[in-house]
Amino acid sequence: MGTIRTQALLASQQKPQVKIDESVRRSDLFGKNVFNDQAMRQYLSKEAYKSVLDATENGSKIDRKLAEHIAAGMKLWALSKGATHYTHWFQPLTGSSAEKHDAFFEPVGGGLAIEKFDGGQLVQQEPDASSFPSGGIRNTFEARGYTAWDPTSPAFVYGTTLCIPTVFVSYTGEALDYKTPLLRSLQALDGAATAVAKYFDKNVKKVIATLGWEQEYFLIDKSLATARPDIVLTGRALLGHSPAKGQQLEDHYFGSIPIRALNFMRDLEQECMLLGIPVKTRHNEVAPNQFELAPIFEEANLAVDHNTLLMDIMGKVADRHGLKVLLHEKPFSGINGSGKHNNFSMATDTGVNLLGPGKTPMSNLQFLTFFINTIKAVNENEELLRASIASASNDHRLGANEAPPAIISVFIGDQLSKVLDDLENVSDGKLSPEEKTELKLNVVGKIPEILLDNTDRNRTSPFAFTGNKFEFRAVGSSANCANPMTVLSAIVAKQLTVFKAEVDDLVTRKDMKKDDAIFNILREYIKQSKRIIFEGDGYSDAWEKEAAKRGLSNNKTTPKALKANISKKSISLFEELGILNPIEIHARYEIELEAYTKKIQIEGRVIGDIARNHVIPTAINYQNKLISNVQGLKDIFAKDFEKYAQEQINLIKEISEHIEAINSNVTNMTEARKAANNIEDTEAKAYAYCDEVRPYFEVIRYHCDKLEILIDDELWTLVKYRELLFTR
Ligand code: ADP
Ligand code: MG
Repeated sequence: MGTIRTQALLASQQKPQVKIDESVRRSDLFGKNVFNDQAMRQYLSKEAYKSVLDATENGSKIDRKLAEHIAAGMKLWALSKGATHYTHWFQPLTGSSAEKHDAFFEPVGGGLAIEKFDGGQLVQQEPDASSFPSGGIRNTFEARGYTAWDPTSPAFVYGTTLCIPTVFVSYTGEALDYKTPLLRSLQALDGAATAVAKYFDKNVKKVIATLGWEQEYFLIDKSLATARPDIVLTGRALLGHSPAKGQQLEDHYFGSIPIRALNFMRDLEQECMLLGIPVKTRHNEVAPNQFELAPIFEEANLAVDHNTLLMDIMGKVADRHGLKVLLHEKPFSGINGSGKHNNFSMATDTGVNLLGPGKTPMSNLQFLTFFINTIKAVNENEELLRASIASASNDHRLGANEAPPAIISVFIGDQLSKVLDDLENVSDGKLSPEEKTELKLNVVGKIPEILLDNTDRNRTSPFAFTGNKFEFRAVGSSANCANPMTVLSAIVAKQLTVFKAEVDDLVTRKDMKKDDAIFNILREYIKQSKRIIFEGDGYSDAWEKEAAKRGLSNNKTTPKALKANISKKSISLFEELGILNPIEIHARYEIELEAYTKKIQIEGRVIGDIARNHVIPTAINYQNKLISNVQGLKDIFAKDFEKYAQEQINLIKEISEHIEAINSNVTNMTEARKAANNIEDTEAKAYAYCDEVRPYFEVIRYHCDKLEILIDDELWTLVKYRELLFTR
């Protein structure tokens, strides 16, 4: 029989062969299972179609009668795709998507049944929501929550279920999900950015945020992963000695993709195509068995839905291939972790990327306006931005010397730095015609060339400008992108509103020309935002010191980072923009702290369990072998035996020392956990888990990993790193 490890190793050789039909063109699959424009035109009346379009583009309400028509059309379409059930698909604060399936089927008496789905069922549902996190909102107000249709993200059929993207709110209207505040924030950004974009082009009526995410992940053989209780329960390896070969040869990045992984990717990409997720690139990442997948960017709300959906279907597709996807930010210590870069920009309904180069001096001044305002927004809200990506798992990356540091800074490259230097010298007040010509020709006018040639890259920056967008790199691989997108849109919205007011003020009060006023304000912004711009090595110790001098925050743990969410400044920002009210903000704060506590609590239990019921028994087992060996040597050599048994005796002692260290540390950790569990206050409890419980993990791990390399490989029960990382 062997250990569970040897069984798992045998099982990992049985690789399922999934046939992927690549003869179908991707473009023929694209959006086939989405109730998209084409499907709507086919299945809806003109009036119903127009009302959905109106809701998507202008946020107008869909009236009840039309909702009936839309539901009827959507049902027919879904049935034609083989759907038997429908669900409101939403994103509660648990981090994953939620769905409760209801059958279309409805008996109508006389032994007959019909397929039913009406406007009411489309627009609103009341899932029994009492076990989703609400941070106490539902206790204080109303026990129920409801989901409401978000027509800006199209319905889709997955498997045999019609999925209707919805928001999830309490009966009194408080947001209980990720989508609600995101939609509110995107609306605020639209308002503020459109007003500013109108300075440059009066025809602009709408600005959307664009998001292109890049999803990193590990792909591990399922039988092997299943034999690791820590991976099953926490998504990461809590123990495990580094393999003799890790990523030091740098042979994985962009290397040829292993066949099994490639087959998984093809299958996944086809599923994505059907669901309208425009996946475009795939490649190996730095660590062994680590990969990345990225789509073409989309409107932010849709992009967030698509990423959430992707994370779900990745697991399902992997299962067919006998694989397991690990989305955890740091599944294996000693090698790279995974992130999810969020590429962010803004685009007008006239087709202009506001962070991209333009053709005229005016459009390049527009670029500078949005560019500098974004930098200023990040500078003033760096701590809130850090909070937006805080989680127990992302703490392993940020500041852990291989990913962006926990300090938020902005990288813009030499050439744009030079542009900002030039702008900083613009004269105060009205500009002379000569100065303006000079600026337009030699500063603003040079921008398109500069951006085209933006090869200047800094991989250590958490927030880097990459030619036509900002790349927020500190987002974790398992995160829902809604949080960082909500905060980013909110701070930019707020900043643009302030900017517009200041420019208008100079125009009316000082009788300045609009572009003079813009130059004047931007000059001041550049001066005020200097501390956030950093072009050097973000991983260095020197930067930590320098950042501290500049007054930038460096919150390395989640409980510390989250605090920024409830600062006076954040509360008034969210309230002013109508994104979250103080009740919602505090509820979310509680939920995130609780999630942190629970994650560390579970990890603590798992590490204690496997240390005691895998590692220690195996160590004793091996030690007994050594003891009988020593005894046998004694029988043979009598007085002289020590000469031959000394090494074994040392090993026996060494094993005992590690066992003792593991056992006492597990005992102490358990005590620390008990003490933490007795703390009522959510915040204090999270700190206790962070500062009192978590530090034991490393000590326990150290001794377990030492035993792993001392003990007979035959006896070791836990699947090893080399097996997890190099089985293909
Ligand atoms: P790289 O960053 O490697 O140069 P790309 O420029 O192609 O690669 O972009 C990386 C990601 O950024 C892709 O997901 C892409 O869709 C996205 N992206 C490109 N332009 C924008 C934009 N204007 N807004 C948001 N995301 C964008
Ligand atoms: Mg990137």
